[in-house]
Amino acid sequence: MKILFLDQSGKPGGAELCLIDIAKPYGDRALVGLFADGAFKVLLQQHQIPVEVLATQPIQVKKQSNLFQALASLKQLAPLLFKVIKIAKKYDLIYANTQKALVIGAVASFLTRRPLVYHLHDILSSEHFSQTNLRVAVTLANFFASLVIVNSLASQKAFVQAGGKSELTAIVYNGFESKNYQIPDAEIKQIRQDLGLEDKLVVGHFSRLAPWKGQHILIEALAQCPPQVTAILVGDALFGEQDYVQKLHQQVAELRLENRVKFLGFRSDIPQLMSACNLVTHTSTAPEPFGRVIVEAMLCGTPVIAAKAGGAMELVEHGVNGFLTTPGEPQELAKVINSCFQEIEITATIADHARNIASQRFDVAIINQQIAQLLDSRFTNK
Ligand code: UDP
Repeated sequence: MKILFLDQSGKPGGAELCLIDIAKPYGDRALVGLFADGAFKVLLQQHQIPVEVLATQPIQVKKQSNLFQALASLKQLAPLLFKVIKIAKKYDLIYANTQKALVIGAVASFLTRRPLVYHLHDILSSEHFSQTNLRVAVTLANFFASLVIVNSLASQKAFVQAGGKSELTAIVYNGFESKNYQIPDAEIKQIRQDLGLEDKLVVGHFSRLAPWKGQHILIEALAQCPPQVTAILVGDALFGEQDYVQKLHQQVAELRLENRVKFLGFRSDIPQLMSACNLVTHTSTAPEPFGRVIVEAMLCGTPVIAAKAGGAMELVEHGVNGFLTTPGEPQELAKVINSCFQEIEITATIADHARNIASQRFDVAIINQQIAQLLDSRFTNK
């Protein structure tokens, strides 16, 4: 089956990293069409996945755009749409990986009579999207998609609650290559040394810097932890959240935590950095659709504390393979961080257990098989 994958982003967020794993098995039979140039294109090339940047200028619609702003972007979309239609004729299936890709993919699917799959990586709720964007996504998915792959039960529920047809959906979690997360001790030691963290208790946070990812919650919690507890914040403001970055730096200064918080920016050595942490925290203040970082921490064997909402609750069972805290509650987070560092043996057992379960449950080979079966059963010889 020849698949045209569409993704709006030039930057590698969670949905894009997931797409790399999905597109890879299709080799030359696939093309990833991007609506923006950037680091994601380079990553796809490094994985030998055929890629083409299809848009010549960035699309202005944002997650919170209203109807007027959305309509104003239509003129801008026309050249992109023509290009997609032309390319889609050479493929059997259009696979939209993001919302703007769904918009373009839906029209292209209608005009070329190619079936449309929508991979939904988001929780379609008003916490994340404007009413206009919600309505557009659900309506297009209902009318044009033959299959909606959702990345968690939480994303599925939100889709249905927003008016999406549940019979279109299939839940498929993100897949991971567990051997990529097995890092030799010597390498871990070196990283800790390079970062000046040898004698510290390191708490890691791995996310783009955005208010709802809640880095401020960890910083506030850190102020209630003993002085040897240090945080590394890994990730950058991918979608223009510069005000938030400034606020985080201000917060660190006000709490006099300059020596205990390191901003490392966007990194590609996530498994190494996670392995170098004593704990990984996930602090999203709005429900997380899936939470790749939670699974990645588990695969590294690093204990993880996640915010109890959305997809994170499908990944973590409190006290069994990790810990859950109430979103937006720094005091509770500080308490759990401190108890993890006090009860080292219990915490290590939980992390070990998490690693074992995660390497089976999220094995990329099995996840890719699930996707192949879904696509083959619905679209082969039709
Ligand atoms: N990530 C990365 N470099 C960074 C920060 C994050 O490669 O500096 C990766 C992280 O390892 C994870 C993904 O970005 O695989 C984020 O996915 P997640 O589902 O946690 O959040 P999303 O960005 O999709 O909201």
